[in-house]
Amino acid sequence: MTSAPRSPAPHERARPLAKGSTYPAKDLCSQCGLCDSRWVAYVRRACAFLNQRFEAMETAAHGRSRDLANEDELYFGVSQRMVTARLRPAIEGAQWSGIVSRIGVRALETGLVDAVLCVQQSPDDRFTPLPVLARTPEQVLAARVNKPTLSPNLEVLEQLPGSGIRRLLAIGVGCQVQALRAVQDTLPLEQLYVLGLPCVDNVSRAGLQTFLESASDSPATVVHYEFMQDFRIHFRHSDGREETVPFFGLDTPKLKNVFAPSCLSCFDYVNGGADLVVGYMGASFGRQWLTVRNPRGQELLDLVETELDLAPVSSRGDRRAAVQQGIDAYDKAIKLPRWLAELVGFIVQRVGPQGLEYGRFSIDSHFTRNALWVRRHHPEKAEDHIPGFAKAIVARYRLPSL
Ligand code: FAD
Ligand code: SF4
Repeated sequence: MTSAPRSPAPHERARPLAKGSTYPAKDLCSQCGLCDSRWVAYVRRACAFLNQRFEAMETAAHGRSRDLANEDELYFGVSQRMVTARLRPAIEGAQWSGIVSRIGVRALETGLVDAVLCVQQSPDDRFTPLPVLARTPEQVLAARVNKPTLSPNLEVLEQLPGSGIRRLLAIGVGCQVQALRAVQDTLPLEQLYVLGLPCVDNVSRAGLQTFLESASDSPATVVHYEFMQDFRIHFRHSDGREETVPFFGLDTPKLKNVFAPSCLSCFDYVNGGADLVVGYMGASFGRQWLTVRNPRGQELLDLVETELDLAPVSSRGDRRAAVQQGIDAYDKAIKLPRWLAELVGFIVQRVGPQGLEYGRFSIDSHFTRNALWVRRHHPEKAEDHIPGFAKAIVARYRLPSL
């Protein structure tokens, strides 16, 4: 007796959407790339901006969702270990010390995976992202350093069928990871590792230009920048010069509309679905911050742990008054004169929040701003879209009226 032919799965019948068309999340689309692959078939349940599913995602990935009664998990997500670290020696040209790239390289060298999903840069423009499935350490290293623009990482899923890749390490930010986790079981893979980056305030390539022109004294020569834990933006220029600008001196009226609407409606700053997250904001100045969420995350960290200068996480100060003042100043779009911005920056750097408390400062500031933005611009979505952990954090502050 012959069995009836299997009916094709939804992604086997689907085709990527046409580039440039309006994607299902419309103005909230972060261009994560899912819709540029046949896995667009699952977009209604997978897209981070159409369907928030933190509890289901965390439970599937880590075996449980975050414990809201635990202050660290409320803020930083499911965690089995948190440390700060620097790679020794650092990788030249990396965003920080290059822990992420080194893990990617070791994952290939040890045979843990067949390929690494990462983002190189376009040959024409340092800040235009070019997602790839890297098969060699050189290709992973060519993806080092942030492309601080929306990146269609998941478009490369389209290359998986027939590629021979069975074990994959995917590096990505929260919206990409949420969509990836939602389709994970339908991918032609035996094993998936997810190395996450925290992410906030991302921009389109045009938005990045506006930001650079408003914040740097030489926008054309910027090759790298980061919002650092000393409350300053550090710009590195092509001639090696470092320029620093206080956060509090940014041209808020001009920059309020620069951030992508997706990022103004995002509450996955700490990348809740990744196995291991490598950022900086929970570490003291100059160090990176690692959150291991599950045993697969520890497996990734094991690849490089002997090459790291490790230290425990620490926390100092009280962020709450500064967050409340920031909410009001941002809403009124106040721009401080440079001398006052320098003075505020000087004081905050000495007495302000540090370590995990700096991380909470940044999360509180962004969640309150984003909750207000969603309630004002998408009131019909606010109740379902803002996750419970973010509602609990936002409720600690007094928000301006809608
Ligand atoms: P590297 O070894 O230099 O590797 C960088 C990796 O980033 C590469 O593998 C590359 O594939 C990937 N990548 C580059 N651009 C993108 C992109 N647009 N989308 C997805 N992946 C990309 N950390 C915080 O603690 N707080 C923040 O607010 C924060 N915001 C971020 C915003 C963006 C847009 C990005 C990309 C990262 C952000 N990070 C943030 C993470 C942090 O800046 C570093 O990327 C991280 O600590 C790793 O540093 P590294 O030296 O180990 O990385
Ligand atoms: Fe598609 Fe991603 Fe845009 Fe959602 S965010 S509409 S999944 S490309």
